[in-house]
Amino acid sequence: MKHYNCKEELKLIIKDYPFLCKICKKEKALIEIPSQKIKACKNCYNNFFENKIKKTIEKYKMIKPQDKVGVFLSGGKDSSTLLFVLKKLYPDINLQAIFVNLGIRYYSDKLEDLVKNFCKNLEVPLFIYNLPEKEGYRIDDFIFTYFKNKVCSACGAIKRYLFSKIAKELELNVIATGHHLDDTVSIMLNLFFQGDFLGIAKLQPSLPPLFPNQVKKIKPLYTTPEKEILYYALLNEIPFENFKCPHADITPSKKIKELLTKLEDENRQIKYQLLSVFTKKLIPLIKSNYKEEVLSLCIKCGELTSSQDKICSRCKRVELLEKIDNKTLELTKEEFEDYIKNLNSNWVLIDLKNRENLLNESIKKLKRFFNSYRDKHIFLTASEPEIGYLFTLKLRKLNFKAYNIKTV
Ligand SMILES: [Zn+2]
Ligand SMILES: [Zn+2]
Repeated sequence: MKHYNCKEELKLIIKDYPFLCKICKKEKALIEIPSQKIKACKNCYNNFFENKIKKTIEKYKMIKPQDKVGVFLSGGKDSSTLLFVLKKLYPDINLQAIFVNLGIRYYSDKLEDLVKNFCKNLEVPLFIYNLPEKEGYRIDDFIFTYFKNKVCSACGAIKRYLFSKIAKELELNVIATGHHLDDTVSIMLNLFFQGDFLGIAKLQPSLPPLFPNQVKKIKPLYTTPEKEILYYALLNEIPFENFKCPHADITPSKKIKELLTKLEDENRQIKYQLLSVFTKKLIPLIKSNYKEEVLSLCIKCGELTSSQDKICSRCKRVELLEKIDNKTLELTKEEFEDYIKNLNSNWVLIDLKNRENLLNESIKKLKRFFNSYRDKHIFLTASEPEIGYLFTLKLRKLNFKAYNIKTV
């Protein structure tokens, strides 16, 4: 687990082409624009990239000069690049960066540090919302619920609620998100396979507020391919995370994304074609056939919901967490000594040193190794607490009663 080493990655995409930039014909060509297959210099790459975003913003009238625009940073390349480009294109608009610390151990705090540095250097004000401190739970706690194998989905509902709540708190008019072409097309296809046409109709580049008091949501990277964002981020040394969230699942839209990338080898325009079919043909058709969704306010939190019982999906998930009385996943050595006093020797302590490669092995192998401890409380120590914690999460997903002992 390391931060992105821009220098190393950059070497892979920067080439020493023996000819001049195909755009300005002055500087040396050093990078390919993926969607155009044109070799350009750094300046021309940046101009091409930024102009495309500017055109999208203007075409859909996304931002007005008096708007207060919020960008939720995840620590990933998409949201950070978006903030960077907005600041560069519109130095005078009121930009506000926001980071939600979701309390994912060995992950969220690292992202927070990264985002803090980034915003400081960029001179954009940053608002940090610490979920465990403010609301008393962390995303990791979903490991104790039936969401244990789809934590991302629970997390998504929590984040949508927080975006809306924080936007009101900070009096934002607009939230800009880093959804790019690859995201949009794969989500559209996934919704299409599920028959969720109303969901497809909502995937517009600019979504006006659904209710008074709500914000407008915009996607300035809507027509930008993911690869071009990666190249831009590396070229401009935008810091972003290179460690995966320990809860990241392989979702259907991720699989579709991979499939699309394969199809792209045969048809370079496939993503643009799909986007065009969806936005120009399908979405207008859906809109003319569907009635507006009936929305009401959640009786618990006051945010919008389409649920008939008027309790939003965020509140339903939080209710699940409130029912858990023991959320222990991690203990210090002293806490451990104390904890086992009540366990009537129904526990085992396992040192993972020399076995840490099991983390990358199949679930089957992991299960086989731990199966004889199925009924016991399993306490783990590893060379680094982070590794022990990753094992703990994996085992919890498989219904083992695992705990990490922080040895360092
Ligand atoms: Zn050039
Ligand atoms: Zn609610």
